[in-house]
Formats: sequence, C-alpha cells, structure tokens
Amino acid sequence: MIGVLALQGAFQKHYDCLKKIDVQCCFVKHLEDLEKCSGLILPGGETTAHLKLLKNDFWKALVEFGHVKPIFGTCCGLILLSSKIVGSPVPTLELMDLTTERNAYGTQLDSFEDEINAELDGQTVLVKGCFIRAPKILEIGPGVKVLATHFQNPVIVEQGLHLACTFHPEISMDTSLHAYFADRCREAFQVT
Ligand code: GLN
Repeated sequence: MIGVLALQGAFQKHYDCLKKIDVQCCFVKHLEDLEKCSGLILPGGETTAHLKLLKNDFWKALVEFGHVKPIFGTCCGLILLSSKIVGSPVPTLELMDLTTERNAYGTQLDSFEDEINAELDGQTVLVKGCFIRAPKILEIGPGVKVLATHFQNPVIVEQGLHLACTFHPEISMDTSLHAYFADRCREAFQVT
C-alpha cells in the first residue's frame, strides 16, 4: 500500500496515477494512516502550508517512517526531504542529502513544462514534467544518484530508499516515476 500525503497540494493526481497502474494506494491525512503504508508520496504544493499542517507528532512520524520506508517527494515534497534549504529556509525532514533553493526559476509566471530524459532501471525514459514554482537542487551529497538533469540541473534524484523530483510528474498523468517508485517499495519489502 502506497500512501499519498493528502493535507494540501496536488495529492489527488498522484492517487489517480497509482490507481492507473494498479498500485494499491490510500490518502494519508492523519498519522495513523501511515501505519498501513509501505511507501509514501509527498506531493507538490506549498511548503509553508505543509509545515503549518504537519503538527509535531505527525512530523516526527514522517521522519521515523523515512528512516525505514521509501518516500517519493515531488516539488514541495523534494523540499521537505532536503537536508538544507537556501533562499527562503524552512525546517525539513532531512532525509536526503540535498541543498535546495525554493522558487528557483522565479514566480508563478515562470512556471513551464518540459520533457525530461530519465535513467530508470538502465533505460532512458521520457518523462513529462510541469515545473510549477519549482525548486532547484544546488548541491548533492555523495550518496545521491542523479537520474535526470534539465539544463545541467539535477531534477530527479535518488538516495537509499528515497526518490525525489523538482517538478510535478503527475499533472500530465505520466506514471513512469510512480511505477519506478512502486518497484522500489516492492523491493524494499520483497513483496512480489
Ligand atoms: N514553491 C513551492 C514552495 O517552495 C513549491 C512549489 C510546488 O510544490 N509546486 O513551497
């Protein structure tokens, strides 16, 4: 079962993408919902709004979850997974060794769509990305693998159990990254 954090932002489309590829999924609105999940998607949205909604015990539960189970963060989700934020710093879960700048492409008017070549399981896969007030990854730690770049900026990264991208893959209902993440969750728990 893959949970989609459903407090704020683009959670519905992530759920629809998982359904489209026949992955069991649920919304996570309360920390008890986490218990049945073997992986979790942190959707795009607004980081500051998420921080207001994620109360202390929920926050702690997410950190503990991330120490043992896979998380896929998109856009705001990647910001929350990062270890350091520059620009407009916010507290983060610090689960991936990334230094990230929020709103790094400019304002809402500078949002754009592009096709991204991702290296997924030894294959080059074209992923459609919507960059909506997207962050940029400025630095990565030694344990971070870059799965795709866009004009030399890493835009899809992986570290240990976790996957993150700076854009929204779900808006165009592109399910390649959801399928990749579901495989990682199956591997982590050796579920066939
Ligand atoms: N700009 C947002 C932030 O920094 C993230 C945007 C998004 O998730 N689409 O919180």
